[in-house]
Amino acid sequence: METIVLYPSPGMGHLISMVELGKSILRRQPSLSITVLTMPPPYGGGATADYISHISTTVPSIAFHHLPAVSVDLGAFHSTEAILFEVIDRHNPHVLHALETVSASAAVSAFITDFFCTAALPIAAEFGVPTYYFLTSGAHFTALLLHLRELDRTATQSFKDMKRTPVDIPGVPPVPASEMVISLLDRTLSDYRDFVKVSDNMPKSDGIIINTFESLEPAPLAAMREGKCNRGGRTPPIFCVGPLLAAQDRDGGEHECLKWLDKQPSKSVVYISFGSLGLVSAAQLKEMAEGLERSGHRFLWVVRSPPWEDKAKRFLPPPEPDLVALLPPGFLERTEERGMVVKRWAPQVAVLGHAAVGGFVSHCGWNSILEAVCAGVPMVAWPLYAEQHFNRVVVAEGGLGLAVGVEEGEGGLVAAEEVERRVREVMEGVSVRKVVEEKSVEAAAAMAEGGSSVTALGKLLDLWKS
Ligand code: UDP
Repeated sequence: METIVLYPSPGMGHLISMVELGKSILRRQPSLSITVLTMPPPYGGGATADYISHISTTVPSIAFHHLPAVSVDLGAFHSTEAILFEVIDRHNPHVLHALETVSASAAVSAFITDFFCTAALPIAAEFGVPTYYFLTSGAHFTALLLHLRELDRTATQSFKDMKRTPVDIPGVPPVPASEMVISLLDRTLSDYRDFVKVSDNMPKSDGIIINTFESLEPAPLAAMREGKCNRGGRTPPIFCVGPLLAAQDRDGGEHECLKWLDKQPSKSVVYISFGSLGLVSAAQLKEMAEGLERSGHRFLWVVRSPPWEDKAKRFLPPPEPDLVALLPPGFLERTEERGMVVKRWAPQVAVLGHAAVGGFVSHCGWNSILEAVCAGVPMVAWPLYAEQHFNRVVVAEGGLGLAVGVEEGEGGLVAAEEVERRVREVMEGVSVRKVVEEKSVEAAAAMAEGGSSVTALGKLLDLWKS
């Protein structure tokens, strides 16, 4: 028996993407098995236990190997990324033990790690297993990661101090320094240094697998393959195997918002949701409500409570939202006929795939971008955290959506007028919709038999044949 070991970082978005990669491998090569190393999420980011148990029962060829819990003092960290890197570092002995245990009953053909889990790369390499990175974000982000060691070597100041000076990354449109991945803004912080370690480690891997497709991001793919992102160093082979989307079978079905969408006209509803972790302030929620109301368009809005004010709770999930207290007085009644507000979570893949949805106000998480592209739904790009400001540049430059809040600055409010204007533009405009619809057709072609992503996965499987 041969197995592929997958090592996702514990956040829901990264875990789902990695499991979808596993399923995709199994579809092409059912004789393989998949072993997923999991760790309990160290901070509030959506419990993964239900999801893991669902996959265990529905896809028996995917086994989960649970790493023991590692306890950290959350209050000692400045960001979720810093927590992640620390926890993952401490899991290294557990990863070695897991590889020993798994290899006692199956030959390990490959070890595929999330970029956050980069600390495990030398462990797996020393164990004698071919190592690969799986990027749950796009090729633009991968180009940045590969190029970061050079940016770091030549930098004289932190990106945050360079304000809107464009950063030059081969194959990527000029990105203002202030729009860089949040963890990279301050070079004195631990997560910046951890990202540089990722950049140092990636060229040592046997390959880089990206959840994207060739025609979505041709420029950074070409730049990486031509060695421009790691001049003087090695660039491992790159395999684009996406778009791999979360399966809809888990929470789609009968959700009340889908029944509501059934009653709305085609392409008439704008969907607003900020990923699995996105939170905005109470003042911002009110501006959004006002902007949505003034736009006159139908909407489906996933609302969460604002972030905790108590710093000690900042990594914990917020409480159930009190819609009446959070939204402007009378908003729910006035928009009853044309709007639906859902608390916390909606079955997004099913929502975006619904004929009634015509626009998506998104936080620019990579999965959300791919899901919108696949469904042919244009976006309003409203980044909040992680690499989302960087992704906004990709969305806007690629013609897949319109940028919101470019001028709002750190912690600034996006005013109701801008929300209204962008919602109208995305719902009423034609050019962005046309680009996204074309990309949607290309995405389907990449995943069809003989398509670029299926072919790339086939090449990987050939490499792993013993
Ligand atoms: N998602 C969802 N319902 C929601 C919010 C998010 O189903 O109300 C899913 C979404 O479809 C996507 C994932 O959660 O697959 C979020 O991943 P993404 O990369 O967009 O953002 P992240 O949460 O990692 O920031």
